[in-house]
Amino acid sequence: MRSAFANAKKQIDNVASILEGDYKDKKKFLKAIELLKKPQRVIKKSLSIKLDNGKTKKFTSFRSQHNNARGPFKGGIRFHQNVSEDEVKALSTWMSIKCSVVGIPYGGGKGGIIFDPKTLSETELQKLCIAYSEAISSYIGPWKDVPAPDVNTGGREMAWMLEAYEKEIGYQAPATFTGKPLELGGSQGREEATGLGGFYILKDYLKTLRVGNHKGLETKKLKNKKTSIAVQGFGNVGFWFSKFASDAGYKIVAVSDSSAGVYNPAGLNIDDLNDYKKSGGSFNQFKSKSKFKIITNEDLLKLKVDFLVPAALENAITESAAKEIKAKTILEMANGPTTPEAEVILVKKKIDILPDVLCNAGGVTVSYFEWVQNLSGYNWLKDEVNEKLKKIMDKSFSEIYIMKNKKNISYRQAAYSLAVKRIIDAMLLRGRV
Ligand code: NAD
Repeated sequence: MRSAFANAKKQIDNVASILEGDYKDKKKFLKAIELLKKPQRVIKKSLSIKLDNGKTKKFTSFRSQHNNARGPFKGGIRFHQNVSEDEVKALSTWMSIKCSVVGIPYGGGKGGIIFDPKTLSETELQKLCIAYSEAISSYIGPWKDVPAPDVNTGGREMAWMLEAYEKEIGYQAPATFTGKPLELGGSQGREEATGLGGFYILKDYLKTLRVGNHKGLETKKLKNKKTSIAVQGFGNVGFWFSKFASDAGYKIVAVSDSSAGVYNPAGLNIDDLNDYKKSGGSFNQFKSKSKFKIITNEDLLKLKVDFLVPAALENAITESAAKEIKAKTILEMANGPTTPEAEVILVKKKIDILPDVLCNAGGVTVSYFEWVQNLSGYNWLKDEVNEKLKKIMDKSFSEIYIMKNKKNISYRQAAYSLAVKRIIDAMLLRGRV
């Protein structure tokens, strides 16, 4: 399997052929494409903290700053044993694409520390957050690079890092980090933003379906009650997506966690499942008065549904899974859930894939709202946030839809083409190439 960063570079090469004709100066265009295939800067820092047992431990950390032609770098900080320089470089590239897809004024960034967070106490974690924030303090800031939470980090870690950063610079600068707790300038609506953004895309896509549009599928328009959806992963993203869809009358027939899936072709009660998960349960032990069946995660992927929504991990849909998929459309809520090899098979099967860089961009969009609110010192109400999010998601979907039809390409190719074009145009305007 190619490395994540090799995949990211290949995706940029793939859209180069689609965009080439749009540029008179081919040489400059190709130079810009080459620049997009490497981050502008990768910061690598060794951090050391004193553990509770008095011993000192060293950690390797990164911050990759991919491209800031459209605005400051923006992206999460990941704590995981599998973090690597290759991974942060890939993730920062995808953040540049995602911010550009939804037209928010940022470039891509990503950070990470190599360690398993379960192995540190809360005090040790706080020390590590402080050490990381101090180490990267001269590279970040509201108009330089704006970090946020990612895997295994959240509001608590952002609060510790903000405190350390403000101590370094000597004044308050809440717009340096997003995903903060509400008390420290976090935004209303951030928790549910990614799921809600994906739900808006679901509705936008359904509006485009026409009679007979899908070869070999039911020819009638999909109606709320008839639209069946299977969701892999029931964490923040999977739960909120399911909740909004279910409340709107769509039928969530299956959800899963890492242990198993829960399936009912007549539709599941999302609130019951959420209460169960909140009480610490795993789906393989799920009990309920309503009818349901426990299935495996592999079975969930094979269900005959209108929408399959991977909302858990990267590379969940592999080549072998793709052969078995019977869903009509895949709506990617996780980052990178479909391998390039699986995508080839799905495209042959005429299954539409609504790409991650669009579907899960609601999260970074509301992070952008948080930054705007912090910079202006003004807090918006939740309705205001959600309404603004809807406008951005709807506009982005429609731009991609138009591009897809104009160039006869896939949704992913259309999203990447639009995004890469916007970044390249910004680079050309700045005279970087
Ligand atoms: P989370 O940790 O809250 O939830 C992950 C869920 O996936 C859990 O229910 C977990 O049990 C399940 N899971 C783990 N391994 C699994 C497996 N092998 N099979 C099935 N389910 C499994 O994470 P999240 O914040 O919901 O993020 C999910 C995905 O969405 C990730 O790819 C993340 O990068 C992406 N994403 C999240 C946000 C956000 O705002 N949280 C924004 C953009 C993208």
